[in-house]
Amino acid sequence: MNLRTLSTSHQEQLVQLMRDVSAMTLRVQQDLGRKTAWRKKDHSFVTIADLAGQVLILHTLAEVVPGERIYAEEEATSLKNTRRLGLVRELVEDQLQRTVSIGEVVDLIGYRGDMDSDRTWLLDPIDGTKGFIRTGHYAVTLATLEQDQVTRGWLAVPGPKEKAPDVSGYLFASQRDGGAKKIDLATGTASALPAPADLPLHGGEVKIAVTKAHYIDLPPTVDPSQWKAEPYAIDSIAKYAALAVGAAHIYPRKPSRWTGPFYCWDHAAGVLLLRETGGVATDLAGKPLDWSAGVRLTNNRGIFAASHPDLHEQLQPLFADHVRDIL
Ligand SMILES: [Mg+2]
Repeated sequence: MNLRTLSTSHQEQLVQLMRDVSAMTLRVQQDLGRKTAWRKKDHSFVTIADLAGQVLILHTLAEVVPGERIYAEEEATSLKNTRRLGLVRELVEDQLQRTVSIGEVVDLIGYRGDMDSDRTWLLDPIDGTKGFIRTGHYAVTLATLEQDQVTRGWLAVPGPKEKAPDVSGYLFASQRDGGAKKIDLATGTASALPAPADLPLHGGEVKIAVTKAHYIDLPPTVDPSQWKAEPYAIDSIAKYAALAVGAAHIYPRKPSRWTGPFYCWDHAAGVLLLRETGGVATDLAGKPLDWSAGVRLTNNRGIFAASHPDLHEQLQPLFADHVRDIL
């Protein structure tokens, strides 16, 4: 497919933006409290870093791709408290190096471009806010959809490198049919990402990328003489980055009983990254992910991602059978 253009200078601007927002979130993370982190109406967490990150990214998108449609996680309604609004404004002013009005902050949080554009931007300024608050893993993520396919993705995993070797401290940028690269968040040094080495399919140890709360046991139908499983704990969309660099091998995820279908911004950049490094992601039943439904993946149940198509082919049906009652 032909991708809509994004000039090299705009691509570089977006990489710099992702690095700047990542650095800002790390600074905020060091000093979080009740004034800066709270619960939204749906009981999920939000912080001043989520909101300032959204403002900064939408500010750039309004300038670089004016009018293009945006689906973004945060709403200005979670920011009724004027003190918190003031703190978000300070973070934005620090980054933009100019005065910003409260009205501009509120307008930017709600900026969604033009609902008729043929490219859609998917933004989650902090994926895994719960992890972010307890200084776990989290991600800053942005992606584009064109003709119902994910066409570009940026997935930043801010944090010290030792927290998750090869994953934490990097920005993963990918382009449909154009490969993927890994950019050091601290230095900006980029390197192309090869497909992870093929896993030996007999006697192999499969590392399963999980958030503890979403762990699925290895199905009893998996032959223990053929497969050994070990959990690889990592929060957020960063699981896909772990698969893309070969640090983990599969990511099974049950549908959520409480929050409904998954939001597309929680998966898009990761799914494209995996595709461009030779992996594959479908839903847990093996159906291709359907990006045409709007903000949520309403036509899919759960996720099954694998770093290699053979792993997907062998293990996805066993996992699907194991949780058939909830699919
Ligand atoms: Mg978020």
